[in-house]
Amino acid sequence: MSAIAPIQHKQATGLEGITMGAARIQVSDKRIINCPLDLNQLVPFAYTWAWQKYLSACANHWMPNEINMAADVVLWKSENGLTEDERMIIKRSLGFFATADSLVANNLVLAIYRYITNPECRQYLLRQAFEEALHTHSYQHIIESLGLDEAEVFNMYREIPAVSHKAAWAIPFTQSLSDPTFQTGTPENDQRLLRDLIAFYVVFEGLFFYVGFTQILAMGRRGKMTGTSEQFQYILRDESMHVNFGIDVINQIKIENPHLWTPDFQKEVIHMIREGVELECQYARDTMPRGILGLNAEMFKEYLQYIANRRFAQIGLSEQYPNVKNPFPWMSEMMDLKKEKNFFETRVIEYQSGGSLQWDEDEK
Ligand code: FE
Repeated sequence: MSAIAPIQHKQATGLEGITMGAARIQVSDKRIINCPLDLNQLVPFAYTWAWQKYLSACANHWMPNEINMAADVVLWKSENGLTEDERMIIKRSLGFFATADSLVANNLVLAIYRYITNPECRQYLLRQAFEEALHTHSYQHIIESLGLDEAEVFNMYREIPAVSHKAAWAIPFTQSLSDPTFQTGTPENDQRLLRDLIAFYVVFEGLFFYVGFTQILAMGRRGKMTGTSEQFQYILRDESMHVNFGIDVINQIKIENPHLWTPDFQKEVIHMIREGVELECQYARDTMPRGILGLNAEMFKEYLQYIANRRFAQIGLSEQYPNVKNPFPWMSEMMDLKKEKNFFETRVIEYQSGGSLQWDEDEK
C-alpha cells in the first residue's frame, strides 16, 4: 500500500495521506487547536455552536445587487442633496471597508484557517470567508452605482492616514503567522495565534467597524442614502455573527489550554483592546471634524468604551471603562442577533428554493 503515513502528534491540516483502516473519529478526541485527528470528517460534532452559526449564516444569505440603489444615485448626483461632511463620511467609510474586509478574508484564509483543527469551525470559516467576499462586492456595487472614482476609494488606505492607521495596526498580527515554518503547539506560538484571533475578531471586526457602521446607518435613519445604509445593515448583521463566532473560538481555546491565559497575556490583551478604542476614537475625530447627523466624536468615545467593555466581558476580562452607557441604543437593535428572524422579513428572495436553480445554457 502506497499511502503516506499521517503526521503523528502534530496538528493535522486536512491534507495528510490516507491511512486505510484508521480508527473512526471519537468526539472526545476533537480539539480546536493542535488536534492530530483527520480533519476531513465533519461529524461527530464537538462544537455545536460552530455548526449552528454556520446554519444561521446560510439562512441569512443575501446579495448586494438585490438592494435598490436608485434613490442613492439621485441623491448623490443632486447638487444640494448632501453636505460636504456627509459626502466625506460616505467616501471614507467605503475607503476603509473596501480594503478592510479583504484584509479580514486574507487573514482567515492565509493565516487562521490552517491552525483551527476542527471541521465544524472550518465550515463556519469557509462561510465567513465567502461573506467577506460579499461585503467587498457590496462596497464595489455602491462605488459603481454612485459613479465614484474606484481607484481613489480602493487606494484610500494607502493615501489617507485616518483610513490607513487601523489596517496598519492589524497587519503585523497576521504577518506573525505567515512564516511558512510557523507551527502551533508551543505556548509561545499558541499565544501568537490567540493574539491574531483577538486582533481580528475582537478589535478589527469588533471595534474598528463601528464608527463607519454607525455613521452610515445614522444617515439611513434620516432618509439619506437608504440603499447604502441597507447594504451596511446586512453587513453589520453578518459582522455581528463573525465577532460572536470569534469570541466562541477564543473562549474554547482558553478552556482547552488554560495555561495560555497567563496574567501577562491578559495584560497584553487589555492593552490591545485599549489601543483599538484609541484608534477608532481617532477615526471618529478624523471623519467628523464637526457634529453631523446628530453624532459627534465625543459620543463615539463613550460608545466605543461601551462596546469594549462588552468585548472584555465576552472573553472573560473585567470591564476597563467604568460608568459608560450606550449613547446609541438604536444600534443595538440593528445588530442584535436575537432579532435576526424578523430583521429582514421583507425580503422576497427565497434561497432555499430548489426550483430557482438554473444552469447557464453553455453548461447544459
Ligand atoms: Fe467579517
